[in-house]
Amino acid sequence: MTTTLAVANQKGGVAKTTSVASLGAALAELGHSVLLVDLDPQACLTFSLGIDPEDLDVSVHQVLTQGVEVDEVILETDDGVDLLPATIELARAEADLLTRTGREHVVRSTLEDLGDYDWILLDCPPSLGVLTVAALTAADGVLVPLQCETLSHRGVGQLLDTVHDVRRFTNKRLEVWGVLPTLFDGRTNHSRTVLETISQTYDLEVVEPPIPKTIKFAEAPAAGRSILATSRSSKGAQAYREVATNLVQRAARPRATSGKARKGS
Ligand code: ADP
Ligand code: MG
Repeated sequence: MTTTLAVANQKGGVAKTTSVASLGAALAELGHSVLLVDLDPQACLTFSLGIDPEDLDVSVHQVLTQGVEVDEVILETDDGVDLLPATIELARAEADLLTRTGREHVVRSTLEDLGDYDWILLDCPPSLGVLTVAALTAADGVLVPLQCETLSHRGVGQLLDTVHDVRRFTNKRLEVWGVLPTLFDGRTNHSRTVLETISQTYDLEVVEPPIPKTIKFAEAPAAGRSILATSRSSKGAQAYREVATNLVQRAARPRATSGKARKGS
């Protein structure tokens, strides 16, 4: 059975793309088959996995808006994961889809045509627009990377409102898997306090362990590989491996059959 996870937060720079690339590579290391989907017109995920978006004739944009077969677009990467790549053309998708019937379902119906992956991870753009809603509509769960700084969690309530709407109107089975603390500075109590406040305020699980802030992450995208390859034994790579193991356990839990997905369910 495939587990589809949307990695979403409308704030940029919270490590959505880094988490998708690193968790994908970690799940592949565990022997799982993985597809990563780049839903951000900035195409950072595509670029960070060693593919130059400018070299691509077709991308996720043509799949979502022009009915191009998804199999024709998926690429293999050196990190052992498959990728449905994006290009800057995807910036037009929001406008192209806006007047289409069933636009919330375009990602879900695209993924239905695929073979058996154990995991599909969706890298969402930094907005709560059509593409993020379509990703949430396709997903079993949503993981919210969160930078543990005081002001960075102000958008969480808005994101949860969107999740609530998606559950009501387009995808009853969507569950919030929790927040993933990123760019975590364990030397300060401050980070811990912010994390506890957030999980209590919004009644959210915290996916452990926090991903430490380390310079190693800056080097990986330029190398076209995830940090699991460029810095195999670094603390950051190790943290993502542990999170991946926890996600595998989480996926084994019984799934929600109703719109209710509470903490501890
Ligand atoms: P988003 O997709 O949410 O916009 P990115 O994954 O692109 O965020 O990350 C934003 C920036 O932060 C990138 O330059 C990335 O290399 C850097 N980064 C991500 N995670 C870490 C980390 N744990 N430590 C240090 N830098 C990180
Ligand atoms: Mg990104």
